[in-house]
Amino acid sequence: MCGIVGYIGKKEAYPILIKGLHRLEYRGYDSAGVALINTQGNLNIYKAKGKVAELEKFAEDKDVSGHIGIAHTRWATHGEPNQVNAHPHFSESEQLAIIHNGIIENYALLKQGLMKHGYTFRSTTDTEVLVQMIEYTQHTSKVDLKTAVQLTLNQVVGAYAIAVLDKNNPNTIVAARKGSPLVVGIGKDEFFLASDATPIVEYTDSVIYLEDEDIVTLELGKEPIITTISNAQKTPEIKTLEMTLSQLEKGGYPHFMLKEIFEQPQTLETSMRGRVNVDQNNIALSGFIDNKERFLNAQRIIITACGTSWHAGLIAMYAMEEFAKVPVEVEYSSEFRYRKPVIHKNDVVIAISQSGETADTLAAIKLAKEEGAFIFSICNVVGSSIPRISDSGCYTHVGPEIGVASTKAFTAQVTALIMLSLCIGKEKGTIPEEQYLQILQDLSKIPEKITEILHQNDRIADFAKTFTYAQNFIYLGRGYNYPIALEGALKLKEISYIHAEGYPAAEMKHGPIALISQEMPVVVIATRGHTYDKIVSNIQEVKARNGKIITIVTEGDTLVSQMSDYCIAIPETAECLTPILSVIPLQLLAYHIAVAKDRDVDQPRNLAKSVTVE
Ligand code: GLU
Repeated sequence: MCGIVGYIGKKEAYPILIKGLHRLEYRGYDSAGVALINTQGNLNIYKAKGKVAELEKFAEDKDVSGHIGIAHTRWATHGEPNQVNAHPHFSESEQLAIIHNGIIENYALLKQGLMKHGYTFRSTTDTEVLVQMIEYTQHTSKVDLKTAVQLTLNQVVGAYAIAVLDKNNPNTIVAARKGSPLVVGIGKDEFFLASDATPIVEYTDSVIYLEDEDIVTLELGKEPIITTISNAQKTPEIKTLEMTLSQLEKGGYPHFMLKEIFEQPQTLETSMRGRVNVDQNNIALSGFIDNKERFLNAQRIIITACGTSWHAGLIAMYAMEEFAKVPVEVEYSSEFRYRKPVIHKNDVVIAISQSGETADTLAAIKLAKEEGAFIFSICNVVGSSIPRISDSGCYTHVGPEIGVASTKAFTAQVTALIMLSLCIGKEKGTIPEEQYLQILQDLSKIPEKITEILHQNDRIADFAKTFTYAQNFIYLGRGYNYPIALEGALKLKEISYIHAEGYPAAEMKHGPIALISQEMPVVVIATRGHTYDKIVSNIQEVKARNGKIITIVTEGDTLVSQMSDYCIAIPETAECLTPILSVIPLQLLAYHIAVAKDRDVDQPRNLAKSVTVE
């Protein structure tokens, strides 16, 4: 995790770097730092514990001049989040400075070796080992910076995106990646470097996405030079960015999360554009059409993901088994990759990740690919690592998601997975035509139905305030809404820090029912569907124990609404699409409880958005 920014050009680097760090703050925010070479040739490093704003305060009265610099916002993996461990790190002689995103797994061994040669360490990070080794290699092998970086990286086990400054080379940044993302921006007489394109977008739309084991040398007045760590020359592939600046701003909302919740009617419209064709009565997913046979011959579908994306995967299990009649397994990527999973050549593995950089999911699909499985990915960030190594896939196209708690990416993932289930089912003839057409109609109406739900925002904000006292919440759902119970609970935990658990409603009596008392809010998703009567009984069980009941029901429901302390109605839709609607009030509920508790909604403690470490 963490965000990296670099600049070299004619402008002052510091304001560009700071602005870039703010854009990347969603990736980590326990400490931040910057390194700049000024026109006198001094290499200055400033660091502060906490968010980027703390760094700005710290650097207020310092010399932040210079046309070349690198900066970092950290999400600690090795060593406490404090000022000393913040990046950039100096080398022993303070000639070099480094920033790093990732983990150096063999750092302890490398550190021991360097200490034997008299190197001392200021921090307890794994990163410092890299910069010391680069310096050691420069001195002992008498090589230039790029070669020293290359030789060092050949000895490293782990994941990295790094950028290095050398005081003796004030016109050059050397950067490299393996397992963590890095984008180069090419402007007129200037270069940018960042973990994603958001810090670059306002300066240039020409970018190069580095690939694993690439090393790039950015030298003023020259073209970027890319080689691999084994020194193979590469021709840089320059791409054009599609992102716009307005997509990165809050647009009048107090938080990105609220903006992103409210964007969902539009984002889903975009996600479905050209795919859900009501006039032609069909759903067209090119990633499916081009690889039909792999899906039709699949004996099994394995879905692998983490966090919220894993919840989207669970919903897909219900839909794919129902419509495509194919067995589906949903795996946490972190478990899957380290089990000895049995993977067959005719398995289809679907990876879901908003950022497309989730380290565990990336490793899981690499493993499945080696076994010959067909890899299909559902990601949001175009050009990210997971889609690049997949055989095929489908982008969600919801624009940058900045709030750490995922909202619009989730609903688009679910929509993409339902579309895929319907495509497979139709092709296999396992879904009745009439049902297919009905769901197609309902899909096209999802955006307007979400708009209707969003009209209840003020009411949800109002009653959310009554729950700030709660220490615990339970969320219950069945069938398609069971993963929504998990997702509702996760949203609340992430941003309000209230402990919450999601359960399949019928499981409650096997344990969690013991927790229910007057103090315990229980959120039940009780929309109309084939388990409606069952869930009504589950609500009665909670009511009999005086739990506070908040329900999500289908419009026109009177039975459940009468049993509830608070009730939110959502429009009727096909049962498989209900999760896309029922999650909206739960996103709003979590958001408003967190705001009422004065939490940092967009950057909750300990979390980072793009989990590029294991
Ligand atoms: N492993 C490094 C550290 O703990 C980098 C972490 C990051 O990616 O922010 O400092």
